[in-house]
Amino acid sequence: MKITNPATGSVIAEAATDNAAAVRRKYEAARAGQRRWADVPLRKRLEAIAGFRERVVATQEKLARTLTQEVGKPIRQSRNELTGLLGRIDFFLQESARALREEKVFVDGNKMDERITHEPLGVVANISAWNYPYFVGSNVFVPALVAGNAVLYKPSEFATLTGLAIADMMHEAGVPRDVFVPVLGDGATGAALTRQPVDGIFFTGSYATGKRIAASAGQRMIKVQLELGGKDPVYVRDDVDVKAAAAGLADGAFYNTGQSCCSVERIYVHESVHDAFVAAFVSEVKRYKIGDPMDETTYIGAITRKPQLGILKDQVKDAKKKGAKLLVGGSVVRGRGNWFEPTVFVDVDHSMALMKDESFGPIIGIQAVADDEAAIDLMNDTEYGLTASVYTADAKRARKIMGRLNAGSVYWNCCDRVSPRLPWSGVGHSGIGLTLSTYGIQTFTRPKAWHLRSP
Ligand code: NDP
Repeated sequence: MKITNPATGSVIAEAATDNAAAVRRKYEAARAGQRRWADVPLRKRLEAIAGFRERVVATQEKLARTLTQEVGKPIRQSRNELTGLLGRIDFFLQESARALREEKVFVDGNKMDERITHEPLGVVANISAWNYPYFVGSNVFVPALVAGNAVLYKPSEFATLTGLAIADMMHEAGVPRDVFVPVLGDGATGAALTRQPVDGIFFTGSYATGKRIAASAGQRMIKVQLELGGKDPVYVRDDVDVKAAAAGLADGAFYNTGQSCCSVERIYVHESVHDAFVAAFVSEVKRYKIGDPMDETTYIGAITRKPQLGILKDQVKDAKKKGAKLLVGGSVVRGRGNWFEPTVFVDVDHSMALMKDESFGPIIGIQAVADDEAAIDLMNDTEYGLTASVYTADAKRARKIMGRLNAGSVYWNCCDRVSPRLPWSGVGHSGIGLTLSTYGIQTFTRPKAWHLRSP
């Protein structure tokens, strides 16, 4: 497999991929490794994860540069991801013992005793994503390992070097090679992996692929978790500081070049502040520097997957044809690598793909709304339901609106945010199951019920 820098189009490395036979051998090794790993005391498993953390800290700059070279993410944003990773690991280090301890839930005199233990699922497949390989990866493999599972970890083929670096650090930190097992390749390798008799599949990627994985796993009655895309809306009410809201939301839409599952994908603005908001938003976007992702001042990087350029071009064409007004950008940047200009549309509506289909790139539509009810209806008019956000000075009103939004995460005066302390989940086409929070530790276990009657 050739690994290409999406900013330049140059091949930067090659890696050997796993065919179906190799995937099978790795599965068998993991099955044997898991039995031994589950017997390792939790304290020791946590020490290994702490060792992994130390290695991330020691090589942070090198890891950031590798990530930028293979996915085209601006270097400062790669560094931010690695810093954020440390906070996530710390959460798991602090909370796992409590989340995994045996629970005594009922005692009847001295006769009946009821308990719950959290048993590892066994061998789990983790098919991961390229957009935040450290974040979406660690949400799965860290708690899975801590809970006593073996992990067959397939990094995205667009983040292979990062995936290999993660595996090396895990092994150096004391996680056995047959317990954290990298599996390399594209969709064919991923499909071979999902055919193994694993005990759980944890996937991050598109709805289209997630649907196929769920269908194949459904036959086998194993746990499947799918973290898929979003069409994340924001509503800006008429009582906000328009400039501050515009700056925050432009960052929410264009950070990571719009390639985040929780990127702001569409904005509804109260008609009385619409023009002022749009003016502030556009002036913010015009300041963004697009260019060499290794440059410290770059904010807009490359588009990681070339085919995404076609989706963005189609959305621009469709929006223009249906009467939207283009204020900034709108085109592929010619030259080497995969580049798309930061793009802002107004006068949009829900007949346009831009407002309905996931863009996963640096493009946004802003639509005027008459009142809260219209905004709520439009925000919920989607097959996805990952995040949704409300900007307003009115706390009471915000809570009311947020209560009616059909999304896994709701935000007040913020957006594009993930916390290790809160569950990360989606409704509809955004997926099933959850990661993060203490639920996201227990999700890698099977709660076993113990009914103990004293003689
Ligand atoms: P895909 O779902 O297209 O691919 C994810 C991985 O799964 C790839 O390695 C893919 O290989 C592989 N795959 C394909 N078919 C199968 C199968 N049958 N069984 C197992 N694995 C398979 O997502 P991408 O990463 O390519 O991004 C495309 C879209 O995914 C984005 O536009 C966005 O909608 C969404 N996405 C969401 C993310 C999130 O965090 N929620 C993160 C990244 C993407 P191959 O490339 O060969 O098809």
